[in-house]
Amino acid sequence: MKQSINPYNGKKLYEFNELTKNDLESKLKVSHQCYLEWKETSFEERSRLMHKAAEQLRQNKERYAEVITLEMGKPISQSIAEVEKCAWVCEYYAENAEHQLRDEIIETDAASSYVKYQPLGVILAIMPWNYPFWQVFRFAAPNLMAGNVGVLKHASNVMQSAEMIQEVFGKAGFPEGCFQNLILDSDQIKSVIENDIVQAVTLTGSKPAGASVASIAGANIKKTVLELGGSNGLIIFDDADLDQSVATCVNARFQNTGQSCIAGKRLLVNESIVDSFTQKFIDKVKELKSGDPMDKQTYIGVMAREDLAQELEQQVKGSVEMGAKIILGGHRKGTYFEPTLLSEVTADMPVFKEETFGPVIGITTFQSDAEAVELSNRSEFGLGVSIFTKDKNRVKELIGKFNEGAVFVNELVKSDPRLPFGGVKISGYGRELSSHGIKEFLNKKTVYVK
Ligand code: NDP
Repeated sequence: MKQSINPYNGKKLYEFNELTKNDLESKLKVSHQCYLEWKETSFEERSRLMHKAAEQLRQNKERYAEVITLEMGKPISQSIAEVEKCAWVCEYYAENAEHQLRDEIIETDAASSYVKYQPLGVILAIMPWNYPFWQVFRFAAPNLMAGNVGVLKHASNVMQSAEMIQEVFGKAGFPEGCFQNLILDSDQIKSVIENDIVQAVTLTGSKPAGASVASIAGANIKKTVLELGGSNGLIIFDDADLDQSVATCVNARFQNTGQSCIAGKRLLVNESIVDSFTQKFIDKVKELKSGDPMDKQTYIGVMAREDLAQELEQQVKGSVEMGAKIILGGHRKGTYFEPTLLSEVTADMPVFKEETFGPVIGITTFQSDAEAVELSNRSEFGLGVSIFTKDKNRVKELIGKFNEGAVFVNELVKSDPRLPFGGVKISGYGRELSSHGIKEFLNKKTVYVK
């Protein structure tokens, strides 16, 4: 039995029974049957339905946002923005998929030679609770447009969101098997990956979950895409515009109550400006309103589960024991964690070394650009980095030195349907979004005609 519990007040919201083995088998057969017909549909038809899905999201954004907020504690205005972003990704692929997937002509000595992009079939998506709608739509929109069909294993605490996503595609008019929510436990996943119907797997979540899923998929020669989080640096150079960089860094760390893979999680600040930066940062964080996630004025909600808040507390405690100083916040009450700032953080401390998945950040200082790059790269993760400087030449020199999936200059790392998204090192592999993401689960068929 799966339960959704409102993390703000502990009240039970919904209960769901896991699928039996037979139900699972028949749902997978429905997906496969659907795929056989879906892959023959035109881009025009897919695009028409994908626009309808976007409409359905926009027309019902308050209702869907409420489900997100109740299930995982995201402030309601941020939940509404999440639903709107899902509509955007649907519209983006409705308008661009055909062009992105047209035959790619490559001149050789053949009369004609080209790459033809063809779908693979049923793709399994294992998704987390932090952006319960967005994580799913950024998988589903490109894959359905490409002619694949999707089955979803969502995080156990956001099953009503999963049901709502299935509703969006159903109401938009997609055939039943195009997108199905599978109510499953993690330990039922092995049999799904091993099932001949499933062709490939994408997972967003923690390293242990990614490693387990990728090893099962690997043993069955099925492709995976993994998005496993990050510990992005926010690097403030001595010539940065302090007001602008403070505002951006506060947003980068504290939006979604800090529970984002691409959040800025380590502040790396040039020693010469650290005092003024720190004071401005504290002042800005104090303006953030904590409270009931259903209140439109709330910016900091609660964390999605108490065990996650407890883990964050341990990371702060461990860092303090090693010499870090709490200069703002630091307290936890149930699932609520005060926005917290630590100073004197060194690279061996948990808040630097590990992913902190909540509203906590530490400051580490550096003296030279080379040291800033070295500190930023001294992480197992490699999802992204933000650098703040007014000097365009400095930027050009530095970008190639970061071991990251993305470098953003004077901006927080954010996902955008038009740009590829993904990491290196233990942040995972493969790309989502843009023309790169839509091609991950396709057969890139070489055609050679003499
Ligand atoms: P998990 O990685 O455990 O959960 C993510 C998804 O994977 C859920 O659907 C979960 O299902 C599923 N899952 C977990 N273990 C397995 C498995 N062995 N086989 C198949 N599926 C599995 O994340 P948590 O919720 O426990 O969060 C822990 C940490 O992970 C966070 O603190 C954060 O550091 C990181 N994380 C990163 C995210 C990102 O955006 N990259 C998102 C969420 C978490 P179920 O819920 O049923 O266990």
